[in-house]
Amino acid sequence: MTDRDWTGELESYLQDRLAELCDSIGQRVPLPGLRISPPLATEEAKYFVLGFESGLFRLDRESYVQSDLFPAPNEEDLRQRMCQIFWCDSLPPRLFREGICQLSTASLLILQRGWLRSQVRLEPSIDEQPSITGGADILVKSSTGMSLIAVEVKRNAAEVHKLVTDLQACCRRGAHAHGDCGFPQNHPKYEFCATYKPTYFWAVAPDAEICFRMNYEAESIAPEQLTSLPPRSMIELEAG
Ligand SMILES: [Zn+2]
Repeated sequence: MTDRDWTGELESYLQDRLAELCDSIGQRVPLPGLRISPPLATEEAKYFVLGFESGLFRLDRESYVQSDLFPAPNEEDLRQRMCQIFWCDSLPPRLFREGICQLSTASLLILQRGWLRSQVRLEPSIDEQPSITGGADILVKSSTGMSLIAVEVKRNAAEVHKLVTDLQACCRRGAHAHGDCGFPQNHPKYEFCATYKPTYFWAVAPDAEICFRMNYEAESIAPEQLTSLPPRSMIELEAG
């Protein structure tokens, strides 16, 4: 049996969503069609498609992502906290490229790695600690609420490598403030780790991934680089 054309399926799905969005805001669909840069990776497209087919998330007419994986909604700020897959600040609307990889990664954690839906949270910093914004894109927790995996999604391999270098520098230095950090772009990831102490930090892009086991010491954090994210069984066993 041949596998499905995952990237082709996702491209036409996104093209349809773009057309729907343009229709709802009274814009014409841009002529060259949707621009996806960097291009979709096969595995990325596969888990995005399987994610919406399994009902893990869906896009509404205005391209807002609706998903139970977001922290429980409350009140009227609901829409702002949802991620929108197209940016409409300029026209034509542009694809929020990291958003595709973020949803695909959440779907992969559940459908391929076997984590429970209740353990996987998108955009966890929003409700848990508003002061740490941009802390992590996905957080996987144990059934007892321990932070197991912080996932950060980047646009490409170059950004993953910059994140890793910056995070290592922040970790070596130990406690320091954002305003006093030479790596302000990625410092919030360090702060997120120092606060929530996830056992693993997984940086993912369509074309790259790097995983660290985070060893927390009295004054600093010593990240140990691994070849990939260990399986759920091992991470849960280790967490006790
Ligand atoms: Zn720092």
